[in-house]
Amino acid sequence: MTDKRIIALIAHDQKKDDLTDFAVTHKSALNTYEIVATGTTGGRIADACPELAVTRMKSGPLGGDQQIGGLIADGKVDMLIFFIDPLTPMPHDVDVKALMRLAVLYDIPMALNRSTAEELLVRDS
Ligand code: PGA
Repeated sequence: MTDKRIIALIAHDQKKDDLTDFAVTHKSALNTYEIVATGTTGGRIADACPELAVTRMKSGPLGGDQQIGGLIADGKVDMLIFFIDPLTPMPHDVDVKALMRLAVLYDIPMALNRSTAEELLVRDS
C-alpha cells in the first residue's frame, strides 16, 4: 500500500458494467487513489483500466464485502463507491446493510449510485 488515499469500489450483479464504465470515464481521478475492490469488480476494472492500482479482495459472496468493511473499521478507507443493484432480489441484502452501516458509523463518504459517485470525486479533486 502507498500513501495515496484509498477508495473502495464494489458493484453488485448487473451494476458491474456501470461501475466499469464509471472507472474508465474517471480513470484520471481514480488514479490519484489506491483502489481496493471486491474480486470480480476489481478484475473488471483492472482489465478495463490497467493503469489503475487495484487490490482485489475476495469475491463479495465469499467475504469480499466484509473484508472491505474490516478495512473501514480499521480506518483505512477514505471513500466507498458501492453500486448496489436495485433490480435484483435479496441475496446481497445482509452484505449491503453491513457495509452501509459501517460507512455511516465511521463517517466515510459513500456513493450508492453514479451521480453521487461523480459528485464525491469532483468534491475530492
Ligand atoms: P464481486 O463482489 O465484485 O466479487 O462480484 C461483489 C458482490 O457481488 O458482492
